Amino acid sequence: MLVNPRGFCAGVERAIAIVERLLALHGAPIYVKHEIVHNVSVVEDFKQRGVIFIEDPDEVPASSVLVYSAHGVSQAVRKSAEARQLVVHDATCPLVTKVHAEVRRLHADGYDIVMIGHKGHPEVEGTLGQADGGVYLVENEADVAALRVKNPRRLAYVTQTTLSVDDTMHLVNLLKKRFSEIRMPRKDDICYATQNRQDAVKKIAADCDVILVVGSASSSNSNRLCEVARLCNVPAYLVDGIADINPKWLENAKTVGVSAGASAPENLVGELTAWLVEKSVPGATVQEFPGVSENVVFSVPKGLR
Ligand code: SF4
Repeated sequence: MLVNPRGFCAGVERAIAIVERLLALHGAPIYVKHEIVHNVSVVEDFKQRGVIFIEDPDEVPASSVLVYSAHGVSQAVRKSAEARQLVVHDATCPLVTKVHAEVRRLHADGYDIVMIGHKGHPEVEGTLGQADGGVYLVENEADVAALRVKNPRRLAYVTQTTLSVDDTMHLVNLLKKRFSEIRMPRKDDICYATQNRQDAVKKIAADCDVILVVGSASSSNSNRLCEVARLCNVPAYLVDGIADINPKWLENAKTVGVSAGASAPENLVGELTAWLVEKSVPGATVQEFPGVSENVVFSVPKGLR
């Protein structure tokens, strides 16, 4: 059962298109701050074609082309790239940019901001780095309980875009209990792609004996898809491709659900389903399980169109 929607979101499509066009325009090397999107196959393919992934703009030779990944960067990174006169192209997903703008606006209005997210994730680092202090990261219930803020009456929250919808709602409710006047985002920060992929896995879970999610270990939204399936009491495994599959997972499975994180290319899903049908489950058929259709498109910046 192929889950819909799955795979690439509009932000990932845009980030990949930006690097593709820069390669075509300038040729290699192109430098990218962090993995352009969290997928091993996408990153390896770009590496083969002369893209160099770095973490610190100081690693980039002066006047080179530097791309910010879909996860976004802090203001400090922007300043450092500017100081080195790098030719910067911003592949930050517009939905992450929206959260960045919100943090800067709230900070300028004198608010402290609570960010719900996973410590160390590049999107979280970038969002925390939009304000010079006054942004607190919470990951779990204990963090909410321990939170000390300057002024509970001037407090707002934002979230990472790729979290578990249910876990986040739980933490938001706890925050509201502790800080009754906490201000919520004008529009949910969890993005449409994360929400739709999690809803789709929930819908299909009851019909599956096992669910395989195509995605890389570093991909937040892919990991969340596995968690969502497990919460529905279905064993779920994250795989980069066929090589990661343990045949034992499929023993006695009559129905295998297949989804893919927002950074996982569809060709990997195709390889996986072909392998299931040809090698693993003789006589198996592939069914597309219908879901909401997505028509979000983020165009590449003007200069690269
Ligand atoms: Fe943007 Fe959501 Fe895709 Fe991340 S998962 S790149 S926030 S659309």
